[in-house]
Amino acid sequence: MPVEMLLPRRRPTPLVPPWPYRPRPLPDELLSSYLCRLALGMDLKPISFLNTVFGSAKNLLAQDLDNYVPPRIVQRIAHGVQRDPGVIVGCTLQDLTGTLFTRHNPRGRNPWLLPTTVDNNVRRRTGLQFCPACLTSDPAPYFRRHWRLAFVTSCTRHGTLLRDRCPHCQAPVHQHETVLPTHCSKCERTLCEASPTLARHDHLEWQGALEAGIERGWITLGDDHVRSHIVFAIVRQVAALLINGRLAPALREATARDWGGDPRPYEKPTARQPFEYLEVGERHRLFDMVERLMRGWPYRFVHSCLEAGMHRSHAIKDMPNPPFAFEAVLRTYMDATPYYATEPEVAAAANWLRRTKGKATYRDLRSICGESRAAIYRNMDYERRQAVPSRWRVEAMAELETQG
Ligand SMILES: [Zn+2]
Ligand SMILES: [Zn+2]
Repeated sequence: MPVEMLLPRRRPTPLVPPWPYRPRPLPDELLSSYLCRLALGMDLKPISFLNTVFGSAKNLLAQDLDNYVPPRIVQRIAHGVQRDPGVIVGCTLQDLTGTLFTRHNPRGRNPWLLPTTVDNNVRRRTGLQFCPACLTSDPAPYFRRHWRLAFVTSCTRHGTLLRDRCPHCQAPVHQHETVLPTHCSKCERTLCEASPTLARHDHLEWQGALEAGIERGWITLGDDHVRSHIVFAIVRQVAALLINGRLAPALREATARDWGGDPRPYEKPTARQPFEYLEVGERHRLFDMVERLMRGWPYRFVHSCLEAGMHRSHAIKDMPNPPFAFEAVLRTYMDATPYYATEPEVAAAANWLRRTKGKATYRDLRSICGESRAAIYRNMDYERRQAVPSRWRVEAMAELETQG
């Protein structure tokens, strides 16, 4: 008898036919956008479609399905559209684990992800941004996954700022409630009207490099290629230093004075609120400053921090596991505690002085090794002062002095 016969069998899934309309997800399409397109393609309202498939008790629209979608629901959608479950998970933000962040919280807040708090099916927060020009030019308008990320404040394709609400009634975007993704669910007017605001070229380039880093897994930081989640952790900390904490105003002033940008405080209700809660215009202003400060990493950043009176201990505050790439910059340039050379370092310096200058004097050792006085006394050369030094010695010492 084959061994497989003895193993527990999977219960066969009930035979449900695939859905009649099953397009593939568009490039970088959000799961919520995909579900709405599926529903509209089958002439159903998104809510009726989801209730028919998953039952009304679940109220899937009250959850942020783009942030996290349970495996059972992934399986059902994958079966409905006859595609690999990986394709469905690829439409969610949890799929960015490993490139944007290292750990994903399925039920709560995540760094970089814009919140879309939903109360009684009403979307309170403006966590879904959009580019009017992209929506207008799409053959089938859809919402992109990267429009849910906090550092994405402009469209690198059109060079304009994103929007996060209806230009007419200021309501947040609520895709499930509308028949056309290009129209407001509340006032039913088009989301794509009104004149766009242009973003700076340097800013677009910077944002584009971060977006590419999510796809590629690494980003150029200074002279190094660094894993993207590490760069995102550093960018997030630099942004946090500009917005939160007692030295934030001084850092903004120093940055604006030397590298440009707008140093005004940000409009937010509480002092410690993370920048993911800022509306798109304010976030753009913040990341405009982050871009200016991080250009030529790390020299502008170090300069402005020191100008603002910020040292390592402050710059690393509230960072749970500071990445080495960040810690190394802070240790090298921003440590307020003086460096004490170790005993072997002082001994090596003394040997080098003997080879090059003939002897290791206190003064020379001090200029190389700094404040490690005890070690200097142990390693320097002591000489008995001669009552009448020979002429040869005086000349030799003078020659050594001039060479030094
Ligand atoms: Zn666009
Ligand atoms: Zn509206």
